[in-house]
Amino acid sequence: MRIPVVVDCRSRGILPYHFRLRRFGLDRSEGKKYKGFISERKLERLKEYCREKHLKFYIDNCYGTRGSGYRARFLKHYSPVFGWFYFCAYCGKPVSKKRVAVDHLYPVAKVSKDPALQRKLKRRGIDDLNSEKNLVPSCERCNQKKAANMGSWIRKGKIGRHAWVWMLRWMARIALLLVLGYGIWYLYINGCFIELGGMK
Ligand SMILES: [Zn+2]
Repeated sequence: MRIPVVVDCRSRGILPYHFRLRRFGLDRSEGKKYKGFISERKLERLKEYCREKHLKFYIDNCYGTRGSGYRARFLKHYSPVFGWFYFCAYCGKPVSKKRVAVDHLYPVAKVSKDPALQRKLKRRGIDDLNSEKNLVPSCERCNQKKAANMGSWIRKGKIGRHAWVWMLRWMARIALLLVLGYGIWYLYINGCFIELGGMK
């Protein structure tokens, strides 16, 4: 099976990658994108290469590719908490609107290769990979770590995409810290009284 792939050099210059990408059998298409068909055996090597060089890699397919407008779509559909930040859906870290990485919950690389998964997404009302239903806010670190992984990432993302989950968690943490702080303060004060009493 030959898989249609796209490598996007994005803001990077193409010169350091051009010959290597050509050797993978890709041709330069518009802008800084390289497209071509590749065997499954070579696919992993190309992915590894793109990861190493921080190039954007994705599979070109009919179910939808990683479109260019999905970030804008995400920002339009989901407003940030208090107007200026999002919680990373995977770890709960607050990320500013400017720096938030918009992640495809069901990864492009997996969905495009898996007809069964595509049927599953269709049943859930996701007709397009770049649908807002498939987009979650993420921090840069989780975005890179998740890559094309699914399993527990999907479970975490489905729960963590709701900001109130993290608000509750943060509130619980703060409450716990306050209780602990009060406890220590209380013990300290009492300890001092005992010590002072002993000195008399
Ligand atoms: Zn994160």
